[in-house]
Amino acid sequence: MKGLLLIVAVLAFTLLLMFDVWSQMPLYGIFPPVKYDYEYEGDLTIEMVDTQAEVQTMCRVNNPHILACSWQNGKSCLILMVRDEVMRERGYSTGLLLRHERGHCNGWSGAHEGERPLPLGSTYLVPKHERVPSPTAYYKYKSKDPSRIDSRPTTNSTSRYQYQ
Ligand SMILES: [Zn+2]
Repeated sequence: MKGLLLIVAVLAFTLLLMFDVWSQMPLYGIFPPVKYDYEYEGDLTIEMVDTQAEVQTMCRVNNPHILACSWQNGKSCLILMVRDEVMRERGYSTGLLLRHERGHCNGWSGAHEGERPLPLGSTYLVPKHERVPSPTAYYKYKSKDPSRIDSRPTTNSTSRYQYQ
């Protein structure tokens, strides 16, 4: 009986952990197949827009949920993306969409054959407090009231980063 209770307890704990991971990390196809998942070696342009409506119009796609699209001509590739804040509201990031669109730049078709999911426990999405703070947000904040304390955004003391 004790053995059965222990198994039930371990199973319940495992399910709780899995639920917690699932609630924080959605599983969806995003990565191109390995065959197309590498640096783009042509001339790459990335354009950012403010809204998904703009992406929908410019990409000429009848899908209000679209976040990015791309065009390539064998020598160059243009990726059009909505800004990062909007992507994050939808559970994505610029990095995830860039990797997806880069696959299209490398010849992956729009049918998304062989699309790979974001792995469980992935490091590709982290909470805002674990991300490098944006200098753009800081300077917008400062420009509204120059008398604000002149300190750069901070991150935890073990992080080292440089804006380049
Ligand atoms: Zn795609």
